[in-house]
Amino acid sequence: MQHWKTLLKNSITDPEELPRELKGDNSSLNKVTALYPMRVNPYYLSLIRQKGDPIWLQAIPDSRELQDTTCMEDPLNEEELSPIPNLIHKYPDRALFLVSSQCAMYCRFCTRKRKVGTARMTITRDTIRAGLDYLKKTPAIRDVLISGGDPLLLSDDQLDWILGRLRKIPSIEIIRIGSRVPCTLPQRVTVQLANILKRYHPLYINLHFNHPDEITPEASLACARLANAGIPLGCQTVLLKGVNDNPEIMKKLMHKLLLNRVKPYYIFQGDMTQGTNHFRTPVEKGLNIMKFMIGHTSGLAVPTYAVDAPGGGGKIPLLPDFSVKLEENLTFTSYHGLACTYMKAG
Ligand SMILES: *Cc1c(COP(=O)(O)O)cnc(C)c1O
Ligand code: SF4
Repeated sequence: MQHWKTLLKNSITDPEELPRELKGDNSSLNKVTALYPMRVNPYYLSLIRQKGDPIWLQAIPDSRELQDTTCMEDPLNEEELSPIPNLIHKYPDRALFLVSSQCAMYCRFCTRKRKVGTARMTITRDTIRAGLDYLKKTPAIRDVLISGGDPLLLSDDQLDWILGRLRKIPSIEIIRIGSRVPCTLPQRVTVQLANILKRYHPLYINLHFNHPDEITPEASLACARLANAGIPLGCQTVLLKGVNDNPEIMKKLMHKLLLNRVKPYYIFQGDMTQGTNHFRTPVEKGLNIMKFMIGHTSGLAVPTYAVDAPGGGGKIPLLPDFSVKLEENLTFTSYHGLACTYMKAG
């Protein structure tokens, strides 16, 4: 197996370097990558079967990224909600701590595409120390999510240092890592990495898979190494037009995740991020996908469908209509359309 650093170094960063049959249609793609960087490592590239497929769509720059006039640079208002650079404190008891500006593949739909992988995102030892100081003096934060960019692109030593510092803060109960690396560069998840991570329990990792074809033997091995280190694994999937906006594909993805001991956590409605408008779907699509899964398959396979409120209002769960009425008794329609009543207590 090739070393992850070698794979990363051999990434394609210029659309011109793509094999002819995978090239996009437009010649102005250099303008796209000047604003929003491209990185497709050889592993993720190998998952593409043909131009336009769900893997290709997620990874290959598109001229529509520059034609988006609907969306906003920072729809979740993250910059305003950052008391210090790279730490977003939006909810009372948890914070999002950005510790890496790099990813193993730059997803075209990224919510932080305004800065991820560019000079507009500066993360240094000093910004990380400032984040740790903020967490130390803000004991209301009991759950810290480290994200980026991708934290698993840090070296083992850097990650070990950050996790060690976080664990020294008594008010922090839960550490979470958000990472797409087990999907986009699973070779990074070495036995050595798993051995470091397992020293910092309770540690949770939320992965990011969007299509069943991303769950390869390599990705399964990465998940198994993390799960065997006792780390509960979740998955945050983004609903994307042409990639997974289909009930059968979504159900298959959820089932494959469970087979790998990954519990589906969220399906996100696409954020209103500038440069990603062509990936957005109607909310009805997401609701129909939920309706297709709830009751029809294991509850374990069904995540929460949510929209992250523009302006920074937080994640709002969205449920299909079960016509719930709470009057004297609770009346509702079951998943297969039967009218039901739950009698009031007492
Ligand atoms: C998503 C998010 C969290 C975590 O939310 P949960 O619903 O607890 O997973 C925390 N902070 C920020 C800024 C977020 O965007
Ligand atoms: S891995 Fe996450 S942070 Fe990185 S480009 Fe993809 S969506 Fe954005």
